[in-house]
Order: sequence, then C-alpha cells, then structure tokens
Amino acid sequence: MKQVEPEVFLVARPQVDYDGVAAYLQAVGGQRWLERLDRDQLDEGADSPRIDAQNLAEFAGKMCYRSWEPGLNPNVKRVRDDQAKYLENILRSGHGSVLEHVSFTFVLHNVSRVFSHELVRHRPGTAISQESLRFVRLDEIPFWFPDWAKADPELMKRASALLTEMEAFQGWMSDHFGLDDEGVAFHEKKHKTSFMRRLAPDGVATGLVWTANIRALRHTIEMRTDAGAEEEIRLVFGKIGAIMREEAPALFGDYQVSGEGAWVPGWRKV
Ligand SMILES: Cc1cc2nc3c(=O)[nH]c(=O)nc-3n(C[C@H](O)[C@H](O)[C@H](O)COP(=O)(O)OP(=O)(O)OC[C@H]3O[C@@H](n4cnc5c(N)ncnc54)[C@H](O)[C@@H]3O)c2cc1C
Repeated sequence: MKQVEPEVFLVARPQVDYDGVAAYLQAVGGQRWLERLDRDQLDEGADSPRIDAQNLAEFAGKMCYRSWEPGLNPNVKRVRDDQAKYLENILRSGHGSVLEHVSFTFVLHNVSRVFSHELVRHRPGTAISQESLRFVRLDEIPFWFPDWAKADPELMKRASALLTEMEAFQGWMSDHFGLDDEGVAFHEKKHKTSFMRRLAPDGVATGLVWTANIRALRHTIEMRTDAGAEEEIRLVFGKIGAIMREEAPALFGDYQVSGEGAWVPGWRKV
C-alpha cells in the first residue's frame, strides 16, 4: 500500500493570437487597444510576461460594446484602459459570459473516486477525461491519508492492514483469472479488470484531466473550498485557487482566504 498526496499540475493555459486580434482590430478601427501592448498596458507589469488569460477576457468584453476606443460606438464617450479595473468591473457587474472564453487544463493526480464523484457534479464550462479502471488494472492501491488520520496509530495500523489485504486480493484475482496468461483477449482482460475494481475502495488514488473556464473555476473554487465541503476536494481546490491567483491575478485577486482555507470571492456568482 503506497501513501500518496493529491497533486495539481497546470498543463494548459490560453494563448492569444495577437496577429489575428490585430487583423480584426484593423478591420473595425480598434487598433488602439492592441497598441497598449507596446506600452505594456496589457501586461501585468513591464517585466512580467503578458497575461493572455486576462487579455482574452478583456478582448471579449470590449467586443460587446465596441469599446476599443471612444467614438467607435457613438454611445461610448470614454473607455476604461486600466485592465485590472476593467476586469474588476466585469466581475462586479456579473458580466460572466466573457470569462467563458478563457479555459485552463489541469491534471488532478492521486485523487480518489470520492473526489471525482463530487467533481463531476460541476458541469457547465468543464471537460473531464478520467483514468479508466476498466482498462487500467490495479496492481497496488495508492491511498491518501489526511494528517489527522496519520496521527492516529491504531487507525493507521488497521487501515494499512486492510489496504494491504485488498491489494493482495487484486493480485490474487489477476492470477486466478489468468490475466497475464499467453493469448488472453483484451476484452476478457477488460471484463475482469472492471469486476476487480469493484473490490477496491472509493479512496483509491487515481487521476483525471480537468478543463474549466474562468466562470466555472470561480464557482467551483468557492464551493469546494467552503468549510462545509469534503476535505480532499477542499485540499485540491485550495491548490487550484492558488495557481489561478498566480495565473490571472485580475480575475482571482478578489478572493479572501479564511484561516480555515475557504476561498471567499469579493464578487460572487459571475
Ligand atoms: C457541501 C456540499 C454537499 C453536497 N451534498 C450533496 C449530496 O448529499 N447529494 C448530492 O447529490 N449532491 C450533493 N452536492 C452536490 C450539489 O448538489 C451540486 O450538484 C454540486 O455542488 C454542483 O454545483 P452546482 O449545482 O452549482 O452546479 P454546477 O454544475 O457547478 O453549475 C454552476 C451553476 O450553473 C447553474 N446550473 C447548472 N446546471 C443547471 C441546471 N441543470 N439547471 C439550471 N441551472 C443550472 C446553477 O446556477 C449552478 O450553480 C453537495 C455539494 C456540496 C458543495
């Protein structure tokens, strides 16, 4: 039995095609917005890389009101150039659809099926590819113990013995079904592997790829770090929140993190 920790790896972030944006802005007379790039006004700071996630959200927002510069829309007499303030206004006013264009992809590694049952309840704006325990045969039962459990020797002794026995039983079933024998058809392996996973615990550590847009991320970070949420999902979404605050400070900087680790947004339900 291998003890593991749930881990979060950010594997993809948005990338703006500035040539495409420039061609569009040229067509509508909105080049001024892109010229701000040259003045570092669409960067978080002159020395830091440009933040495509924020630029894409701002781009989608400005498209709505043709507010690349004053006068393009006769109704718009002034435009907001400060990106952080602009995006704060998007969050405050709940203009959330523009945030749906901006997606991030994570590998959630060594998470349990307890975790994934809860994660999949969050549907709009997300995509999931989960490790198949019908295809992937368990030859061990990796398992996460929270610190409070690790501090309980009797619990750990009994839980470790149980998991070791379950692991051995997985091995016994593989042998019993002859899964590694010469010429066993893959559909037979799949059939038996799927049966065998029923005899592994919900807590077995596995993994998935999870993609979510900013709107879904904001909602799930808030809900799943709440003090009332389950401890593993709280741990994972605390990590996701910390990554997102680094990735897009203007879109996640409004959260206050409580002493208990709950991420409470300044602007709710965008
Ligand atoms: C502490 C806690 C305990 C829970 N306990 C249980 C439990 O015991 N049993 C159980 O089954 N579930 C439970 N859940 C799951 C919960 O009921 C939700 O299904 C889950 O949190 C997904 O959140 P969401 O509804 O905001 O949906 P998301 O999929 O995250 O959607 C985001 C938002 O989009 C809107 N939306 C999404 N889908 C629809 C729709 N079909 N129709 C209209 N609007 C929609 C809603 O405004 C929703 O808030 C629990 C969740 C938490 C956080």
